[in-house]
Amino acid sequence: MAEHESLEYGKADFVLLDNVSMEEFMGNLKLRFEKGRIYTYIGEVVVSVNPYRAMNIYGRDTVEQYKGRELYERPPHLFAIADAAYKAMKRRNKDTCIVISGESGAGKTEASKYIMQYIAAITNPNQRAEVERVKNMLLKSNCVLEAFGNAKTNRNDNSSRFGKYMDINFDFKGDPIGGHISNYLLEKVQTCQKGAPESLLRSLHIQKDPTAYTFIKVGGQIKSSINDNADFKAVADAMKVIGFTADEIQTVYKILATILHLGNLTFGVDGDVTLIENTKLVSVIKDLLSTKEENVEKALLYRTVATGRDVIEKQHTTQEASYGRDALAKAMYERLFCWIVGRINDIIEVKNYDARVHGKNTVIGVLDIYGFEIFQNNSFEQFCINYCNEKLQQLFIQLVLKQEQEEYQREGIPWKHIDYFNNQIIVDLVEQQHKGIFSVLDEACMNVGKVTDEVFLQGLNGKLAKHAHYTSRKLSPTDKSLEFDRDFRIRHYAGDVVYSVVGFIDKNKDTLFQDFKRLLYNSSNPVLKGMWPEGKLSITEVTKRPLTAATLFKNSMISLVENLACKEPYYVRCIKPNDVKSPLLFEQERCRHQVEYLGLLENVRVRRAGFANRQTYPRFLQRYKMISEFTWPNHDMPSDKDAVKKLLKGCGFDHDVAYGKTKVFIRTPRTLFSLEEQRAEM
Ligand code: ATP
Ligand code: MG
Repeated sequence: MAEHESLEYGKADFVLLDNVSMEEFMGNLKLRFEKGRIYTYIGEVVVSVNPYRAMNIYGRDTVEQYKGRELYERPPHLFAIADAAYKAMKRRNKDTCIVISGESGAGKTEASKYIMQYIAAITNPNQRAEVERVKNMLLKSNCVLEAFGNAKTNRNDNSSRFGKYMDINFDFKGDPIGGHISNYLLEKVQTCQKGAPESLLRSLHIQKDPTAYTFIKVGGQIKSSINDNADFKAVADAMKVIGFTADEIQTVYKILATILHLGNLTFGVDGDVTLIENTKLVSVIKDLLSTKEENVEKALLYRTVATGRDVIEKQHTTQEASYGRDALAKAMYERLFCWIVGRINDIIEVKNYDARVHGKNTVIGVLDIYGFEIFQNNSFEQFCINYCNEKLQQLFIQLVLKQEQEEYQREGIPWKHIDYFNNQIIVDLVEQQHKGIFSVLDEACMNVGKVTDEVFLQGLNGKLAKHAHYTSRKLSPTDKSLEFDRDFRIRHYAGDVVYSVVGFIDKNKDTLFQDFKRLLYNSSNPVLKGMWPEGKLSITEVTKRPLTAATLFKNSMISLVENLACKEPYYVRCIKPNDVKSPLLFEQERCRHQVEYLGLLENVRVRRAGFANRQTYPRFLQRYKMISEFTWPNHDMPSDKDAVKKLLKGCGFDHDVAYGKTKVFIRTPRTLFSLEEQRAEM
């Protein structure tokens, strides 16, 4: 509950609303946005509305205003949350995490960068060179990841196509000493470099005109993450600073160039022979990949199959060849991205930290992950993203809603039960062993005979006919919004989404032919070779099925949530005010919908029913006993609880607290603030 802010800007904390209704919530959100107050609290949660204009609130002077202050002392700001997480980590030795969520374009990545920037600004007061180096690398790694992982979409010019979780490790002094990045599901959109210097382009045989490349023209829109020479240089420099070798950087360019050239390869037939129409490109590609022309050709046109003990070369049809070519380009891009993340991790990971000497090394995690997505056409990617949001909502429920309620019950505090929708049932619908959608998908992929998207849909209809959150045309024949043999609908906690099964099977399988893996592994470029270790195996040695994309994603989500669950969480909820990137427009309906599916109203209700602060009686006394004659230096009451009661009554705060079995609960931060002031005056 921030003081120091005039009501003219609306309420700085939604907890202070007169009535908790959607109407009042939206009124306050809109008023604050219009007054240029883009941040508002719900207790310790920051609600942020994308201003779509440069705000003068992230400078050094602002950092100073927030440094070391309590949340409720200053107007709401990301810096306050970052500071709270940092303090909890430093003072109480707690691992903390900051979860940033919201839909595409809502401002998550910007928020994560301001948080990192704040942490960098307040740490390492002694300017230790090693810590400065680590900080610099952590910030630079962002730039590289964005260059390769972001793309222009119709909703965000700089959209993150991967989810990112970054741990920052701190030593006992509270200074950063390293980090670790995890990435989740890169959508394999093609991004390209066109700001590269001409000499480099020439060596890669890349034309300056981006429209010359099929992969860049997706949807008639130039998708490029690096738009000009300055950006190109920034990324190249960042890679150098982080510690990528010249060979590695060259290889990165070569791979990107290969991907672009692959997109322009076309296939034709001569009699019953499939062939590559533009053979010149093959020669370019073989140079870029440091291999032989015939190897490239063979990998693109043939597939090695094992039939019993025999190994035969099977020629692709033009359709199969095109499919293989696209799969190769996507796989190379994905592998490149994961390899870059891996290299960054090698370099930034904490080294030589001896906990016995230096004390516990603590962590602040920052999660920037795509919010709930509903498009015109929703496919496998949206399904994964929305499942991820169900998992995060479940974590939020567990941590914030359930824990609060359970603690009040445990402590015997009178408590009005808050009804909230527990979305575990939807999480189960997706991830449960044998019955869940991912399992059905994996099963469909393992079928020997007919493996089609329709078979998958039939599997779903068979297993989930009775599930309250699942339906399809077969199960609801009158529902004309669903297509037979194509659609299913999930009732997510955030709303209904229709998914089309088209492409699910393909996207779930690891469909890159072994021939391609072998091609890349046999490159004489050691960096490229190192990216494809599984290419070592010949076709008869490949026995294990690779894990499916769904299983990999599910596993990574489960471990992400486990990791977050043992940290003290802080939340930033981002809202996108309009779809036209305007700093002036607050689209009521769009915003209301986001408030709804972020569960913000429920969040306010729990906060209001709840208490801002709680402490055990001995701890409370230890901190505040000096402000009362009854407790200083010692009390003669039968118990600490009685002593605390007497103290608080004496100060006139009795009305704002509740006494639990082992803890005192303080309702408003203002009371805590006054106690702190009195203590300071002693
Ligand atoms: P996605 O899920 O697509 O990655 P996102 O939530 O990460 O989206 P951002 O890339 O952070 O969205 O923000 C989109 C754009 O909005 C930014 O490029 C920037 O122009 C603007 N923006 C976001 N936050 C701020 C801010 N605090 N101040 C000024 N502009 C902002
Ligand atoms: Mg982003």
